[in-house]
Amino acid sequence: MFENSPFYHQALAQLNSVEDKIDLPKGVFERLRVPKRTITVSIPVRMDNGETKMFLGTRVQHSLTSGPGKGGLRYSPHVEAGEVTALAMLMSWKCALVNLPFGGAKGGINCDPAKMSLGENERLTRRFTQEITPFIGPNTDVMAPDMGTNEQTMAWIYDTYSTMTGVNCPQIITGKPVAVFGTLGRRTATGFGVVYCIEEAAKECGLKLTNSTAVVQGFGNVGSVTAQALHDRGAKVIGIADVSGNYIRPSGFNVPAMIAHMEKHRTLEGFENIAADKVTKEQFFAQQCDIMVPAAMEMQINGEVARNLKCRILAEGANGPCTADADVHLRERKDIFLIPDILCNSGGVIVSYFEWVQGIQMYFWSAEEVDNKLQQLIRRAFLTTSQFAKRRGYDMRTAALCLGVFKVANEKHQRGLFP
Ligand code: GLU
Repeated sequence: MFENSPFYHQALAQLNSVEDKIDLPKGVFERLRVPKRTITVSIPVRMDNGETKMFLGTRVQHSLTSGPGKGGLRYSPHVEAGEVTALAMLMSWKCALVNLPFGGAKGGINCDPAKMSLGENERLTRRFTQEITPFIGPNTDVMAPDMGTNEQTMAWIYDTYSTMTGVNCPQIITGKPVAVFGTLGRRTATGFGVVYCIEEAAKECGLKLTNSTAVVQGFGNVGSVTAQALHDRGAKVIGIADVSGNYIRPSGFNVPAMIAHMEKHRTLEGFENIAADKVTKEQFFAQQCDIMVPAAMEMQINGEVARNLKCRILAEGANGPCTADADVHLRERKDIFLIPDILCNSGGVIVSYFEWVQGIQMYFWSAEEVDNKLQQLIRRAFLTTSQFAKRRGYDMRTAALCLGVFKVANEKHQRGLFP
């Protein structure tokens, strides 16, 4: 059950930390501590060797108050109910903070996509979609990519849902390939959003990105795009980590060459003598740098790691990378400018919103339009958060949570309790 999960408790601790700062009746927070709805389905899949294997899939709809549920679908061997519940809760605050007409949701299937063939992956995805079709919809719950899923997964979901309902419905899902009603700029949106936030934070810290140093944990869709965008702005990327290890190279990595290697080999192993740069996770996070970007997964920075951080800006590309314990230290560390996850990685869901709107209208935007609107929304959310933080004397996480939680809580309060 989700109540036993440390990550769920981390998300709960964040919600609890702002409750007293928001002037609304207590009952409304009771409703926000638990998800509105959790759907768990079993997914039988015929594997390539002829055996039938069972998988468990979950969709958690934390809040549907502000609009249809919105959030990614994660394929990972670590997926459990508490993780998905916590991530759904974070989606509620994230959509609210950037003012999108969505509630918060998240999905997960406990599987190891790296060990599955394309055919197995497709059968898993299609059967899961069929099982949850009664609970999703363009006005009910709209999924998107997350760890272990990609554009292809979204195309299968779009196709299965449309086939099941007999109606072409691209707006059932976002993060689709551009060829099948996806939007330009979705693949790079989260990473670009992270860098737009870093640019705003750098202005506040008086830091120039040219010749700054950056360390990025994670080299998936978020980490690699962030590293490339920082590299393009003249920053020296001196640290990168992926599943194969943590690497520090003080002279700086050739990020474009690394991306090319990754596309071919799916890991950084074997890249230009990278084995010689291998360090422990502790050394990696203790590396002196201007910008540290945890863009891998949740709970990577605990109290101990937070105490040893030597960066000026900590930009949370991943969801929930800092534990509650880390947060205690980060609040005391005035030398670090934190860009909290619900703001920092909101670029993905912002462009998902654009994709949903384009799908509904069947009217498609240019890449430039998408990027301009992304910048407008995310930079505005950054400034609103940092101004609110200054006005109230809050740290950035508290400020972002206050704004996000307030919007959802206030909408629940205004709509009232049924019956
Ligand atoms: N999975 C992404 C996130 O955590 C994107 C969600 C979406 O686009 O709906 O924000």
